[in-house]
Amino acid sequence: MLTKKFEAQQEDTTLKAVFNYLEQGWSDKKKMSQDLLSYWHVKDELGVQNGLLMRSCRLVIPASMKLKILDKLHAGHFGITKTRLRARETVWWPGISEEIAETVRRCSVFTSSNEEVAMKNRLDKAKRLISMIRVGRLSDIVWTDEKIFTAEVTHISQNHR
Ligand SMILES: [Zn+2]
Repeated sequence: MLTKKFEAQQEDTTLKAVFNYLEQGWSDKKKMSQDLLSYWHVKDELGVQNGLLMRSCRLVIPASMKLKILDKLHAGHFGITKTRLRARETVWWPGISEEIAETVRRCSVFTSSNEEVAMKNRLDKAKRLISMIRVGRLSDIVWTDEKIFTAEVTHISQNHR
């Protein structure tokens, strides 16, 4: 996995230039392309760790892998805040924040414009389901939301392990 990301970084023209700048020092800001300027702006936080280009603790993702990573960050179809939080501790590229917001906006599963309301609704729904499971009214559960049912049942069995 790490080797694959490493190669993807090496194959990326922009990132290759960033690697060079980190090794030999940054050139004149005025001569830089727009692409490279977005790295120049955070140059104090950029570094190479074990051959990997990082921004502090975040792996710098080359353009070729962005979509794949956005998909992973948005796994579970959470909202903008939670998806950004996942990225903050793991990966970075210029404009990642906006691209996460765009991904969540396009998501057909996460449709609520208000993340907190959606989260509260999910929780309320789950709580209702749990109480139904507790009293054993399985016939009631059959027509309820399968997704939440599955998620909460998994959660419970983990707690009892
Ligand atoms: Zn989604």
